[in-house]
Amino acid sequence: AKETGKARCVVYNARHSSPSDHDISLEAAMFQAVREGEFVLYYQPIVDAGTREIEGFETLMRWKHPTLGMVPPARFIPLAETNGLINLLGAWALKAACVQLRQFEEAAKRSLYISVNISPRQFRNDKFLDVLDDAIAYSGLSGEQLVLEITEGTLMIDPVHAESILGKMAERRARIAIDDFGTGYSSLAYLKNFPISVLKIDRAFIRDLPGSQKDGAICNAVLDLAKHLSLSVVAEGVETEEQMQYMRERGCRYVQGYLTGKPMAANVAVAALTERHYA
Ligand code: C2E
Ligand code: CA
Ligand code: CA
Ligand code: CA
Repeated sequence: AKETGKARCVVYNARHSSPSDHDISLEAAMFQAVREGEFVLYYQPIVDAGTREIEGFETLMRWKHPTLGMVPPARFIPLAETNGLINLLGAWALKAACVQLRQFEEAAKRSLYISVNISPRQFRNDKFLDVLDDAIAYSGLSGEQLVLEITEGTLMIDPVHAESILGKMAERRARIAIDDFGTGYSSLAYLKNFPISVLKIDRAFIRDLPGSQKDGAICNAVLDLAKHLSLSVVAEGVETEEQMQYMRERGCRYVQGYLTGKPMAANVAVAALTERHYA
């Protein structure tokens, strides 16, 4: 929880005030890091709440800095978003994650999916659809094995453009997930007009379950909405058995959180799929 508080603060600094000297030196180090191959991908299981089987993974970027150690994405993603490096990093992550999924499927001997975060700037980039096509073609995945996570904010910047891009993603049969659902500033109208498949309920609404009546009411409302719109729901940040049970009983099919698996290196994920248990 300490780490999250700190991370939020950094995100705010990067967006709403001028960057600190620290951010500027971090930014210089980032370009170096791309050349040195210091960015790596971790994978967090997305699990069926009923069977506890791994259905897919969310791809989460890590920066293994030689002296600073592991730099969390909340530190460097906002900087990369500001300086445009996110387009390069994001394109690399998408392709590498699609390729990685093939190895996961070989280990699991069944079909899985891969979920990849797409930042606002990436989503609006002219080259984005080319990047998507390249990742799908190069990896040989079929489109429906790919879930692209975007936030409500990404859709709201330019809804007309967003609708056209989402339509093109849908043509490729990639699924769209709304990340951190319920935390953005947006109307629900986009659920009607845009081809959305998945809602990811933000950890903020899960954290105080089952004790919090208000969070319970919000989760119930989202699950009800999703059911009537035929969307699937992933509960994020599930840390306890009680939270898992609460969500499962209310019809939430998928969970993702420390309870069922922390973000892990690819080789650890392969071992988890092979041994059919995970840390
Ligand atoms: P997110 O997309 O909402 O990812 C979920 C975050 O929640 C991850 O933090 C994950 O490690 C953390 N998490 C998962 N389960 C639990 C839990 O049970 N308890 C707690 N306390 N936390 C949990 P992480 O990896 O630090 O990433 C933070 C954010 O950075 C992500 O939030 C996403 O917005 C961004 N990010 C990470 N990787 C990428 C990437 O490749 N591209 C882009 N554009 N953004 C990324
Ligand atoms: Ca996400
Ligand atoms: Ca999220
Ligand atoms: Ca988040």
